[in-house]
Amino acid sequence: MKSRWQEQGARKSKDDLLALRVYTSRLLGGDPALVLQGGGNTSVKLNITNLFGEPEEVLYVKGSGWDLAAIEKQGFAPVRLDLLKRMAGLDHLTDIEMVRNQRAAMTDPSAPNPSVEAILHAIIPFKFVDHTHADSVVAVSNTKNGEARIKEIYGRHVLIVPYVMPGFILARKVFEMTREIDWRRLEGMILLHHGVFTFSNDAKESYTRMIRLVTKAEEYLKKKKAAVHFAKAKINDDLPGLANIRQAVSRARNSAVIARWNPGNRQVAFANHPKARTIATRGPLTPDHVIRTKRIPAIIGQDPQKGVERFVKEYRQYFLRHATAGLKPLDPAPRWAVWPGYGTISFGTTLDETNIINDITEHTIDAILQAEKLGGWQALPEKDIFEIEYWELEQAKLNKSTGAPVFQGKIALVTGAASGIGRACAETLQAQGAVVAALDIDPAITKIFKQPEALGIICDVTKPRAIEKAVSATVRRFGGLDILISNAGTFPPSATIAQTDQSSWQKSLNINLNSHQILMKACIPYLELGVDPAVVIIASKNVPAPGPGAGAYSVAKAGLTQLARVAALELAAKNIRVNVVHPNQVFDTAIWTKKVLEARAKHYKMSVQEYKTSNLLKTEITSRDVANLAATMAGPVFGKTTGAQVPIDGGNERVI
Ligand code: ZN
Repeated sequence: MKSRWQEQGARKSKDDLLALRVYTSRLLGGDPALVLQGGGNTSVKLNITNLFGEPEEVLYVKGSGWDLAAIEKQGFAPVRLDLLKRMAGLDHLTDIEMVRNQRAAMTDPSAPNPSVEAILHAIIPFKFVDHTHADSVVAVSNTKNGEARIKEIYGRHVLIVPYVMPGFILARKVFEMTREIDWRRLEGMILLHHGVFTFSNDAKESYTRMIRLVTKAEEYLKKKKAAVHFAKAKINDDLPGLANIRQAVSRARNSAVIARWNPGNRQVAFANHPKARTIATRGPLTPDHVIRTKRIPAIIGQDPQKGVERFVKEYRQYFLRHATAGLKPLDPAPRWAVWPGYGTISFGTTLDETNIINDITEHTIDAILQAEKLGGWQALPEKDIFEIEYWELEQAKLNKSTGAPVFQGKIALVTGAASGIGRACAETLQAQGAVVAALDIDPAITKIFKQPEALGIICDVTKPRAIEKAVSATVRRFGGLDILISNAGTFPPSATIAQTDQSSWQKSLNINLNSHQILMKACIPYLELGVDPAVVIIASKNVPAPGPGAGAYSVAKAGLTQLARVAALELAAKNIRVNVVHPNQVFDTAIWTKKVLEARAKHYKMSVQEYKTSNLLKTEITSRDVANLAATMAGPVFGKTTGAQVPIDGGNERVI
């Protein structure tokens, strides 16, 4: 492992120990082989002068909720050192008491909660303390003869601590183990199945020791030929299978999830490993990962749903095996799956969550395969993992989030999304938590909707092949499809039937009617596998109240409405709702060019301004208004409505 220390970077913080602490914490946090996703913690002990001018020793320890990679000074919680040291000597301390007393001992009450390892940091008699969950060290430790191997690597200059619960119990254990020990002869500590501690009065030395210790484990793995390499994988594709798995996971979680399929070389090799089923289900890399990934993944078999169902059943049994009275079970849905032939899938209610899980499992796979080459992967017993999963301090980290947005975990596809109503629909759904595939023929779409939160796709909706590709790309990227807003449209030049140019007539039918049928046909197989699936068709007031001179438009939109009605009848059995909005006078859309607007106003013998608000409520209707209605129709408010047509036109006598 390479040291990332740079004199130049460190020099800036030379006389400011907390700044130096920030610097080396970020060095550790920036290396995913050392810490992953909020894991690990660091501290520095500082002498400060308190309000009364008295000297005081304070431990600045990583605050919970901060990530080492991006930590700032205010990410460290300042706790009076003396109190923490005395806590280590207690025979017994509950987590609640520990947290309460630590908070009470902080010199800044607005700082974050100190790391659960604060007491351990306090009893290590050096200024700088660094702690990581280094992959290589944990991989060696998670083997059948792990402890012996760790001893072989590190000899006597490292304290080897058997696995116990983190927090007070671990601090107390180390406190007892080191009563008679001269800390100065120690280079660091290895916590079996957990990670590494290093320390020094010098920031650089503590960091360098970490790199040194981790390098030793890496070299050991190399020497034992346990390093892993992956051949280039052939990518297979089973998108209905993916959507099916996602639907089963969403049901188990009682919340829509995004499914991130990873067909990388490593993931495919692992999924195709002859012993995948047994090695993937022995337990996580480090116990703290259980909060993100649960103890083990689901293993997908021939029938995608069954793999998820088996996981759910076994999770419930696991809970019953270990639960104490009064403990409530967490949702039984898997957080990742091993999919033989295809790779891995991570599930999250947000894209962030899927990415965090994907990161963790990537490292887990390497460690498992390395440990297999060292005689066999052996994670902690499930009871230890359960204790962390249901540890109140860990649960508190997860329960911080308040009410989820209405479309969290939902996957939507919107056409005609580069401007006007389509764009507003895509933005509205996204703002309410959905991930969105935004389609438009305008190439600007890829810039308007950027990855990873949204997927802008250039697509001519009149071309069946282009539609198929766009729908596939959506499912491949997010794992399924729940909401379809079929909006793409065109407004042909005003012309009577007698005047209508045939190509203009055909173009209107192609875009305003046929394309919607092509799109629906491509989406239905995935909507059937969606979560509370819904289709919203953007039609027109011209359907219930046509106007002369707009035949090509009105006829196509009337056909479109009829298509939606038939779809509502056909798809109800599949639980897919189909509803229609009839907007009118939405003038901030691409079809309302100045020319069209003037022509329509003239036709009704009005000024443009009069025409814009010529409705009963005398109000202007915006794309955003239509989008809000369309989103509402795709959501739970319309959960029991299908086949409805709702005008959004400011009130129109002819429609009423
Ligand atoms: Zn730890």
